[in-house]
Amino acid sequence: MAWDFETDPEYQKVLDWADEFVREEVEPLDLAFPHQQFVPLEGKRRDAVDPLKEEVRRRGLWATHIGPELGGQGYGQLKLALLNEILGRSQWAPIVFGCQAPDTGNAEIIAHYGTDEQRQRYLMPLLNGELFSCYSMTEPHAGADPTLFTTSAVRDGDDWVINGQKFFSSNASTASFLIVMVVTNPEVSAYQGMSMFLVPTDTPGVKIVRNIGLYGEPEGQGSHALIHYDNVRVPAEALLGGEGQAFVIAQTRLGGGRIHHAMRTIGMSQRALDMMCERALSRETQGSRLSDKQFVQGYIADSYAQLLQFRLMVLYTAWEIDKYNDYKKVRKDIAAVKVAMPTVLHDIAWRAMQVHGALGVTNEMPFLGMVTGAAVMGLADGPTEVHKMTVAKQVLRDYQPTDDMWPTEWEPRKREAARAKYADYLENEVGNL
Ligand SMILES: Cc1cc2nc3c(=O)[nH]c(=O)nc-3n(C[C@H](O)[C@H](O)[C@H](O)COP(=O)(O)OP(=O)(O)OC[C@H]3O[C@@H](n4cnc5c(N)ncnc54)[C@H](O)[C@@H]3O)c2cc1C
Repeated sequence: MAWDFETDPEYQKVLDWADEFVREEVEPLDLAFPHQQFVPLEGKRRDAVDPLKEEVRRRGLWATHIGPELGGQGYGQLKLALLNEILGRSQWAPIVFGCQAPDTGNAEIIAHYGTDEQRQRYLMPLLNGELFSCYSMTEPHAGADPTLFTTSAVRDGDDWVINGQKFFSSNASTASFLIVMVVTNPEVSAYQGMSMFLVPTDTPGVKIVRNIGLYGEPEGQGSHALIHYDNVRVPAEALLGGEGQAFVIAQTRLGGGRIHHAMRTIGMSQRALDMMCERALSRETQGSRLSDKQFVQGYIADSYAQLLQFRLMVLYTAWEIDKYNDYKKVRKDIAAVKVAMPTVLHDIAWRAMQVHGALGVTNEMPFLGMVTGAAVMGLADGPTEVHKMTVAKQVLRDYQPTDDMWPTEWEPRKREAARAKYADYLENEVGNL
């Protein structure tokens, strides 16, 4: 029997250390330096954060998503999941542990498809936490359907010239380089006619028109950029992978990115559940504690069950990725995790908020940020509806239509067959009556 739901005791000790470290040392960064985790470190912020990163390195927990071929620990997705669910409690924790999105996914594709020179120039500093990156794919008129993208790159001698607009390019303002998905051959299908380029952010013609914030963030101070690419000239060496390979590369990147978000979502949801339980035990109204009210007990029980299901689903999918080492093979379950993720976080955060009464909806508690986070999870890396379609298509692959008018499970026919099979016994049964 190989099914085993226990964490190896040695690794559990590592996780226990990480849990305490994140609560004591890293979570305070969220409040001391809010929304600044993707701003390159300098001054006092560097003084505060560098020693924490150093401690993580010393413990061998830096950038554990990276395989041994690149000097990482090669922890694999299952161990990473157990660590990431701890890091999910805090905005800064992934930065301090060197495994923040979107840089993890970007690093993964440069590792997979980059030339030696590209790895040297972009991947190594990225893995060392010295710079940030941006994935620039969505356009203002099209997101969920990449075949509608129009930003293009045209060959001009040894160079490529990029023109177009990209929308919601997260962290573009603080990133050192952009990974841009563009049309390179409009004559063929988008699946063969699009390519990816590595473009330094300071290349002439890259114009960040405005930074869009999520609800509640001050205008102009958000981190999701509208970018105009106006005659952006890059050399042929800026091409990532082969010409026409953008879709294949995007799938590699997004597979990992989605499951990592899910791992961190477990941590965020657990934090909401923890807060709900503490409040339920602490607050009294109409003669008893909130935890004695059946409605509140229902919130707690539903949240616990939802989180347990989701956590097992994520850990199982992470285990599958390690086993098959092929995102394509695990596509159905990654998409299913992506579908489940926003609802789990939304439901638990919403109930926790409700149990906190008026205080819950204020800017003194994190619940509405979590609810917005749940909405983001239903869009970023593709909307829920599209992932549901992927799940359904993959599930349907294992089934065949029947030519018969009646379904295979139609009981009158099955009953007749069952009676024929056990005719001797049925006769005895009747005889005994
Ligand atoms: C916080 C955040 C960060 C992001 N970061 C990045 C980033 O770094 N880089 C980047 O390139 N993009 C990024 N995105 C963009 C994200 O990938 C897109 O928002 C997403 O792909 C959806 O595209 P869209 O917003 O254009 O919506 P649309 O494509 O216009 O879709 C709108 C809605 O239509 C429905 N819909 C769409 N397709 C279907 C379908 N086939 N069947 C049924 N219903 C459908 C869904 O309800 C969907 O939400 C980010 C988004 C968010 C919210």
